[in-house]
Amino acid sequence: MIKVIGFDLDNTLWPVKPAILYAEQQLKNHLTALKPGIAYPPEDIQALRDTVLAEHPDYSFRLTDLRRAILHRLVQREPRHHEQTQDIVDRAMQIFLKARNHVTLYSGAEAALSALSQTYALCTLTNGNADVGQLSIGGFFQLKLSAEDVGAPKPKPDLFLAALEHFQCQPEEMVYVGDDPILDVDAASKLGIHTVWKTTIEARSVADAVPASEVIVDLTALPTAIERINDRISTERE
Ligand SMILES: [Mg+2]
Repeated sequence: MIKVIGFDLDNTLWPVKPAILYAEQQLKNHLTALKPGIAYPPEDIQALRDTVLAEHPDYSFRLTDLRRAILHRLVQREPRHHEQTQDIVDRAMQIFLKARNHVTLYSGAEAALSALSQTYALCTLTNGNADVGQLSIGGFFQLKLSAEDVGAPKPKPDLFLAALEHFQCQPEEMVYVGDDPILDVDAASKLGIHTVWKTTIEARSVADAVPASEVIVDLTALPTAIERINDRISTERE
């Protein structure tokens, strides 16, 4: 039977795009208000991102380090900020990360997590840098891991294996819930972990191509999806 349920975060428990746009805007406001102000044009940021990633390929999943390195180069362009570069970057990162956690949960997320946490151990396994501990739902999770913590992003198995190890459970005793067919569903199911694909009504038409145990478009349907997985496990045992 299922003991552990793991969750992806971005686009599984909340839409990520509004949170990133908001955080980028807060960051931009902060930098341009400095004396002298630091411009934050998107095309420059993209170019700096490419340069940093060419030097540090592992920053592709160490997103906080990536953003810190980009900001460092941006601030260094202004000679009058040279001596305070580190302080400015630290403050800007605080602002970005705080705003990054300014997310709006999908409807039904909190109720589903609350109900499931009564029966199962819940954990978060993310490639991103949201800090779920800062949110109202943080207390439902017994383990919160990011790709940065384990040194490798999904679809690599490290995050899943770390969760199995932590809870001392077998892959078939775990369900993983995520929105990405490759990074979440395929990666977890290759390890023998049951999966719930949290998708959209539009994307649902390709569900046959995604090897998920269950498909949902609404988190209110999650508890019954988990029940169906448990029912199938008991039927197979008989
Ligand atoms: Mg996701």
